[in-house]
Amino acid sequence: MLDAGFLEALRAVVGDVGLLLGDSVRARPVNRSVGVVDADALVRPATTEEVSGVLALCHARSQPVVPHGGLTGLVHGAVARAGDLILSLERMNSIEHVDVTGRTLRAQAGVPLQRVQEAAEQYELMFPLDLGARGSATIGGNIATNAGGTRVVRYGMTRGLVLGLEAVLADGTVLTSLNRVLKNNAGYDLKQLFIGSEGTLGIVTRAELRLVAKPRSHDTALLAVQEFSALVRVLQHLDAGLGGHLSAFKVLWGNFYDINTAPPANHVPPLARGAPFYALIESLGTDPIADQARLEALLSDLLQMGVVADATIAKSDQERRAMWAIREDVFAVGRIAALQTFDVSMPIEAMQAYTEQVGAELDRLVGPDRTHIFGHMADGNLHLVVATGEDPKLRHRVDEIVYQPLARIGGSISAEHGIGTERLRYLSLSRTSAEIATMRTLKHALDPRGILNPGKILAARADLIR
Ligand code: ZN
Repeated sequence: MLDAGFLEALRAVVGDVGLLLGDSVRARPVNRSVGVVDADALVRPATTEEVSGVLALCHARSQPVVPHGGLTGLVHGAVARAGDLILSLERMNSIEHVDVTGRTLRAQAGVPLQRVQEAAEQYELMFPLDLGARGSATIGGNIATNAGGTRVVRYGMTRGLVLGLEAVLADGTVLTSLNRVLKNNAGYDLKQLFIGSEGTLGIVTRAELRLVAKPRSHDTALLAVQEFSALVRVLQHLDAGLGGHLSAFKVLWGNFYDINTAPPANHVPPLARGAPFYALIESLGTDPIADQARLEALLSDLLQMGVVADATIAKSDQERRAMWAIREDVFAVGRIAALQTFDVSMPIEAMQAYTEQVGAELDRLVGPDRTHIFGHMADGNLHLVVATGEDPKLRHRVDEIVYQPLARIGGSISAEHGIGTERLRYLSLSRTSAEIATMRTLKHALDPRGILNPGKILAARADLIR
């Protein structure tokens, strides 16, 4: 329990509306995938100065602080325990400025991603980051986790879309680096420290985001493909033929497509079920008629070459959304048993052998048709969803099967979701001991008392003993 004197000091900073206690913290809805959220107190500062005031108080008494954004993460990075103070950025939810000429937008950390996208669209601009949780995920959370999403092959991850940001350090120092220009090599690029740091090095409060011209054409197609090697040829052919317009190249393994398009799942299959692979592709361009014709021509080449077995182009926004919905839904797999979700990356050339080996081992361990794979093939990123159930020993063995081969093939245990607490013990498969030691040096320099999202990314030393 946090003592009364401390709570009163917090109240003096954030006011009555900014401090929630006891049942009013526990009554807030939290999705199961977020993990345990069991704190007694939550602060909701409304300004950067209030965030600074809160952290200065916490630093002075070594009070652990767990930052919360939209709570859509998948690696238990927002887990909070009794004795932790949750810091939510939900009241810092304004878009402060849009510079149409310079193509930048300044947002407070608590603005949901979708509102950033919509604000940009009003000016015929686009914020390219996009992901399924766009309605709830906040821009602060996207930055703290360096979110990837569906268009990385074209626009990069969040890191590439942040021009400047403001963060509050553990001791309350406000670090304002709201740079608005694309090029700025005046010393260390400090903002990069906070992007992808999962709230462990500072609290992101505002960001200057990079916008691009809004595309005038938007084509989505679904392809059925018979072999993995053909997927690689499809990707190369489309990438070369679309002249830089290819913005997404997702692959759905056949059993994932099948389970999501057969009852009781309610998605209608745009192409017949039964192919080993499906590719969902998106092209963002400049000329609706010419761009669609070009995509059609490329697809008909691929059909004639025998590389693609079948293909369909979405003819309306509704059809496009229906195609994406198949990819974004794990409801049908979740009906089998409690899920384990993975987010690994590797060179494309290692993907086929990896998925065959890991798929076969998981089939033997948890049973057939319980492992479903889909992912951002062009980014070297695969999501595995395994209907493992709740048994912790079995879940641990599944982890080992998925993660162990990655070190050898130069892969990563986390392509876009982060480490949180879920992947702590596997960090050393993707990072060298020198890298982890440097991370600890940074953590200690910026947060010497270890109050910011403790136990996330880097385990407390005692936890390292496995
Ligand atoms: Zn993804």
